Parts: sequence; structure tokens; C-alpha cells
Amino acid sequence: MFDPVAVLQQLVRIDTTNPPGNEGPAVDVIRALLDDADVATEVLAKDPDRPNLIARIPGSGAAPPLLLQGHVDVVPTAGQRWDHDPFGGDIIDGYLWGRGTLDMKGAVVMMTHALVALAESGRPPAGDIILAVVADEENHGDYGARFLVEEHPDRFDGVRYCLGEFGGFPFQLGGTTFYPIQIAERVSVKFRLTIRGEGGHGSLPHRGGTTAQLGKVLTALDRRRMPVHIVPATRLMLEAMIDHTSGAVRTALKGLLEPRMAGMTLRALRSRLETLEPLLRNTVSATVLRGGDKHNVIPAEIEVTLDGRMLPGLTPEVMADELRAIVGPVPEIEYTVDAASAATSDPDLGLFDLLADIIRKHDPSGVPVPFLLPAVTDGRWFAQLGIQPYGYTPLMLPHGFEFQSVVHAANERVPTDAILTGSRMLADLLTRYAG
Ligand SMILES: [Zn+2]
Repeated sequence: MFDPVAVLQQLVRIDTTNPPGNEGPAVDVIRALLDDADVATEVLAKDPDRPNLIARIPGSGAAPPLLLQGHVDVVPTAGQRWDHDPFGGDIIDGYLWGRGTLDMKGAVVMMTHALVALAESGRPPAGDIILAVVADEENHGDYGARFLVEEHPDRFDGVRYCLGEFGGFPFQLGGTTFYPIQIAERVSVKFRLTIRGEGGHGSLPHRGGTTAQLGKVLTALDRRRMPVHIVPATRLMLEAMIDHTSGAVRTALKGLLEPRMAGMTLRALRSRLETLEPLLRNTVSATVLRGGDKHNVIPAEIEVTLDGRMLPGLTPEVMADELRAIVGPVPEIEYTVDAASAATSDPDLGLFDLLADIIRKHDPSGVPVPFLLPAVTDGRWFAQLGIQPYGYTPLMLPHGFEFQSVVHAANERVPTDAILTGSRMLADLLTRYAG
């Protein structure tokens, strides 16, 4: 059996920054490990430099196939100040440092380890166990999960659930350790606002023109919020948390469940509960501004791109109306919805109890809760095939170490113990799924 920490070091040292990705050498490492354990593998690629690996352990057919999916590309490190080389794979005081240790080469190693353990046990699982190691998650998945789902859907025939990022690691609230397990994600909607007006010579200023309108729009976006919607995934999460908290935290969580109270409750909270806000309403962030290309010409047109994130089950038409209510009548509003837009608003929780049970075995006082991810993952592509994605890469992180503060940021690192424990937890899961 291979050493998951050593393999993770090896993967971190392969620079798969996306763009351009160049995931080939990382995929080769995983493939060699699976070959050694006699697990059947197959490489499928839209571009030979961006390969995807699919491995399969055949089951007896008593249960549907189970898919584990993870990506080996990573986000750039440019402009970040790291205390250790992001591609060095150094181990310092029990932590393995480097880009991708959390997102998500660490989890890919844990998944691979679990598959190898299952293969070496010689016990056929009840359902096929499939592992997809993919390219290009961090840049829309066109060469990775999207390509597999659109061009090779037969590889996932019969799959009901898949496991990928994000979830299965702790966060503390009101003295309780919760383990969010992702069951849904928001939908990405790109909005474009266009402000038109009279352009002209910069020496002849006019009031209320395009740049003034831009100022009003940006100020309104900063000050105002879209209305609260309690979607099923958020309700499940808040209800589970209410059951395991007390006092002021419990009262606040109950307030969030009341649409008319929620806005007020969020404003009153100067705590980490604010991080729940994106789970309660659609949001937009202004990201790209375009207007004017000459210092002495007042622009006749200004364009603002908004990164919009929509709660699952809502429609972009409704969200556009909510945006209109904030920005007023002046800007023209256009939008495009992410290609994987069929996010279900009604998650299938059939696998949740097993995932939760495996966490409770390692932390008996921990409370697993369903979780709506404010962002998107490759899970959305697999959801196109009718598969219910779960975010579940169990990492027993120590108190005070926050996943979200180092993921995509400088000094990404993971406790080596967490990788070893997580590998065993996923192996345990496959054995129990095997029945
Ligand atoms: Zn990721």
C-alpha cells in the first residue's frame, strides 16, 4: 500500500497551475498507483495535455455505482506571499505545505488510497466504485468534468451519488463542532450592465452622465441586498444547527429561518454567522469595469460585469428583477447562466447518513450538517446526468485552522495526520458502501 503523504508531496511538486493546467504528469502518478493495484484505468482527453483518468472497480451489481471525483489542477499563486515554496511539498511541524494540498490534490490522494485499499481487500463492492481524476476544475471544467459528462456520459451509467469537494471538515460555532457536508451549490450567473449616455469632449463636462450613473450603480450595489429566500438546502442546514446550539447563537439561527427577520438578524450579527449570508440570498459582485479609452473623451457607454450567484431552484429572471430593484432603471441588464445550470433545489439525502456516521466515528461529539456551497464545483457537471453530488473530503483539521482562510490563498497547507485519517475514512466508506 502506498504512503498517501509521500504521494501528496509528489503531486504538489508537479505544477498544475490552471491556466494552462498541464495535468498529465499528475494523472500519470495516480494511474501508476492504480495500475500497481490492478485497478482498471482509462484516460480520456479533449486535449492530450489535459487528460482525465477514470478508474473502476466492478461491483456485484447489488447497489448502484458510486462515483468519487476530484481535480488535480490548481489555482495560480501569482502575487501571493508564501512562507514556503508553494510547489516544494515541504513538511514542517506536521503540515504539508503547498498549492493544492487542500484544493484538492490531498483529497485525490485520499480517494486513490481508498480505491487501492478496496482492490487489495479482494472483496467486490456491492456497486461499481468509479474514480474520476479530472483536469480543469478551476477554469470551468471544459477539458475536465464537462468534457467527460458531455462526451462520455456512458462511463457514469447508473451512478446515483458522487463525492467530491467541499465538505467533511470542521467549523466551530457556539461551542459545537459542525461538519458541513455539501448537498447543493449556487448557480453562477454572469450579469452585464450597460450604461449609455451622451459622450463628448472632456473639456465640456456634463452632470449626470455615464460616469455619474456608474457611481450610483456601484454605490447601490454596495449598500443594498437582494431579498432572503430560504431554499431547502439552507433550511436543512439551519435546522440541524439549531438542534445543536443554545442561547444567542440558537436564537440568531432561528431568526435566519424567518425570511422577514433574516435581513435584520444578519445586520445585527457581527460574528461568523455573517458567512451564512450567501446561503440566504442571491448575490452579485462587480468584477470588471469597462468604459472610456481616451483621457479627453467622456465615454458614451460603460459596461459593468457582475459575478452573480443564484440560490438553487430560483430562476435568473427573478434574480434579474432583484438586480433591477437595486440598480434602478438606467442600466441595460443582460445575463448568461452557467452551462451547468440545472442545479436541483431538492437534494437526494440518501447517502447522507452513511457519510455522517463515518465522521461521528472519528469525532463522536461532532455534528455533521447538510450544507449549501455558495460557489460552484465540478459536482454541477455530474448533476447534469441526474447524479446527486456530495461535497465530502473528510479532513479532521485542528481547532483554529480554517480551511477557508488558506484555500486559494497563500500558505495553503494540510496536517499530514488529516490526510492519513481521511484516507482511512474514505476506505471505510467504500467498504461500508460495499455492504
Ligand atoms: Zn477545488
